[in-house]
Amino acid sequence: MSRFAFDRAHHDRAALLRPDEAWRERDPRVMVLGGEHVATIAGPALRWMDMADAPEGQAVWLGELDGRPHAAVVVDRVPQELEPVSLRMLAPMLEADEMSLAVHAVAMARWLAATPFCPRCGARTEVRSGGHLRHCPSCGASHFPRTDPAVIMLITDADDRALLARNPQWPEGRFSTLAGFVEPGENLEDTVRRETHEEVGITVGEVTYAASQPWPFPASIMIGFFGRAETTEFTVDAHEIAEAQWVTREELTAYGEAGTLVLPPPYVSISRWLIETWHGGEIPGRWT
Ligand SMILES: [Zn+2]
Repeated sequence: MSRFAFDRAHHDRAALLRPDEAWRERDPRVMVLGGEHVATIAGPALRWMDMADAPEGQAVWLGELDGRPHAAVVVDRVPQELEPVSLRMLAPMLEADEMSLAVHAVAMARWLAATPFCPRCGARTEVRSGGHLRHCPSCGASHFPRTDPAVIMLITDADDRALLARNPQWPEGRFSTLAGFVEPGENLEDTVRRETHEEVGITVGEVTYAASQPWPFPASIMIGFFGRAETTEFTVDAHEIAEAQWVTREELTAYGEAGTLVLPPPYVSISRWLIETWHGGEIPGRWT
């Protein structure tokens, strides 16, 4: 089984401490972030600091990790001296427990920055509950952080080959699984079938849930599936997919060793995890 950073929760959100701001008395160590950029020490490590040393911003209670309190301070822009790095770049370097805190913090930062006004009446809202609630003083509405579902799927055919595809924005040789957003009124299995048919013209029958991964860029959860193709001929939608191919396990190993196929990073990417789980082990070679 290949390693996966999101196989379980690593921090306790301790949500009961949110409402009366009691968590502030616990003297949490804090992460400073703005959007998806987090303060680091020289790039590869998260920079943790005392609340008193953090720049002014919106405090967010993250919870406890091994009994130790953790929070985030959300700012418009992380000062250069705190060495901001995008979590997308940093993720492969983080351990699962820090990743757990960081994806929570980035999701909260994106939501807080994007939703200052009440969507019901337009008044400016007040942040409450450790950053996890926006209250509207004008109409009384409560607004909570949202998470938008997307599916990501490894499709296999009757010969147990896997379907890999290349996005038009990716360089030659960079492949991944298919993915797409869930539409209103649609169940997840049908999203897998619809997106696969729209993107590569393949008809999918059986769909099985595999695992999921938070993806706070800005507010998604990637819900991972295995799907079984009932057809094998591609009709590629050139806007979404530049090329698609069926690969066997042996071909994937050979391409990885030769460096001709580049996959998403191991450990932090559910698409890589789906591919490796189907493959039955780690795949050699480069990643981006
Ligand atoms: Zn309102």
